[in-house]
Amino acid sequence: MERNAVFPDHEHLDKITYSYDPSGDLTVSSYTTPAFCIYCKSQIDGFFPFRDNDHKASITCNHCGETNYFLIGDQDTAELYMSSHHIFHDLGPDGSQTISRMPIVLKDIYFLNEGMLEKVQECTGINFFFETQEIELSKLIKKVCSETGISYEDLSEKDLGLHPLFPTLPPLVNKWLHLLTKIECI
Ligand SMILES: [Zn+2]
Repeated sequence: MERNAVFPDHEHLDKITYSYDPSGDLTVSSYTTPAFCIYCKSQIDGFFPFRDNDHKASITCNHCGETNYFLIGDQDTAELYMSSHHIFHDLGPDGSQTISRMPIVLKDIYFLNEGMLEKVQECTGINFFFETQEIELSKLIKKVCSETGISYEDLSEKDLGLHPLFPTLPPLVNKWLHLLTKIECI
């Protein structure tokens, strides 16, 4: 079944949270994800819901017309892949069955990984790492804004094109990136 892009409306695209698990790893959860065509190696236009049980949902690349799929890995780690097929395959003994797969790591694509939050902590003195519950990205941005005297409303939602594979990101992530630029963390 063809999966349609979610147009960039705030209701869907602003649902981005991060949380730490007991081992200290940071996970970013999101209602939608950007998608990447593993055939023509470019970002597919739009953002897509991916956390349901319809594993055969396909996405047609608007650039080359090839069919891509989302694959969800281990539920605990919430791994997400773009794939040429809708199920995981093991390679045969002769290695003939090759399935192209590319991981999508939202915390890296959205500049919300452990290293970046450490940097923000160094820049602002705000300690994010004591929070154990799920935190909304919008609240994180507002917290940094209030501590640094930057206006949340004035932060641009325009793309900065900082990620080499995903030049177009959700508006809220763009606010985060503009904030990181203002506090000179990127
Ligand atoms: Zn393509």
